[in-house]
Amino acid sequence: MSGKIIDGKELAAQLRSEIADGVSRLKEEKGIVPGLAVILVGDNPASVSYVTAKEKASQEAGMYSKEIRLPESTTEQELVSLVKELNSDPLIHGILVQLPVPKHISDKAVINAIAPEKDVDGFTPVNVGKMLIGEECFLPCTPHGIIKLIEFSGMDIRGKHAVVIGRSNIVGKPVAVLLSRKETNATVTLCHTGTKDISKFTKEADIIIVAAGRPMTLTGDMIKEGAVVIDVGVNRVPCPETTRGYKLVGDADFESCSKVASAITPVPGGVGPLTITMLLFNTLESAKRAAR
Ligand code: NAP
Repeated sequence: MSGKIIDGKELAAQLRSEIADGVSRLKEEKGIVPGLAVILVGDNPASVSYVTAKEKASQEAGMYSKEIRLPESTTEQELVSLVKELNSDPLIHGILVQLPVPKHISDKAVINAIAPEKDVDGFTPVNVGKMLIGEECFLPCTPHGIIKLIEFSGMDIRGKHAVVIGRSNIVGKPVAVLLSRKETNATVTLCHTGTKDISKFTKEADIIIVAAGRPMTLTGDMIKEGAVVIDVGVNRVPCPETTRGYKLVGDADFESCSKVASAITPVPGGVGPLTITMLLFNTLESAKRAAR
């Protein structure tokens, strides 16, 4: 069999249209325009393309986008002060600091400076803790988008066995938490570099989320017929045939996995569009809360 492709762009377009409607309603009814501040320190090419995409998407949704580009030499103190200013700016409902920040800046110090009520990335300890105990909070964007993609694939998550490969704070761990909540009710196995035989677990899984940051972490022989595969990885591999000299691939071997899976996300065009969409979703939510 050949699995269907879970089209992240299509789902993102549907959700973004609903978000844009929500933005218009908030403007009409309360006179509030959701505002997103995106801060980039330095000029890492991947980060530049991520923040450009986020700014463009927020403008397309009708939001106010405040773009702040700072030089690599920015100090931690300067960055933290800027975040604190934005915390008290009434036009801003969401603050995003593009990671990674340069090595001389502590990402923890910067994230901790963001007011939890404007933490639309869902990275502050307050929001992470609330997610863990099931209180209202901003869910982290990539894990939230992954749940939306699984639902969009047609798979009912409840009662299924989900295997997550990778335990980072921004993808693996939070997606494992979201999948095991009462609403989704999956049984979750979390694999990492200390797992002895990952294929033993993936072969039993109904849903596999691979977020390892390494191409070919998941291959077709590691999955059972009909599984749903969500490939989070974004890896640049050399490709002299392209003008840029590289191409983007995921962590799963698309060719072999798509022959066995019932559905699979492509890279690019799978998880990425949802990450940005859930950022817009959180920014709108934040503006709605400010309007209450
Ligand atoms: P990360 O912080 O580097 O974490 C990778 C995790 O995978 C670690 O827990 C690591 O285990 C585990 N791992 C690495 N190699 C493994 C292997 N061979 N077998 C089992 N586990 C392995 O990465 P991340 O931030 O979670 O990101 C993962 C990937 O997703 C990256 O390619 C990133 O670019 C991509 N990403 C995409 C989006 C998007 O919107 N599309 C968003 C976020 C991230 P240890 O803990 O034992 O080291």
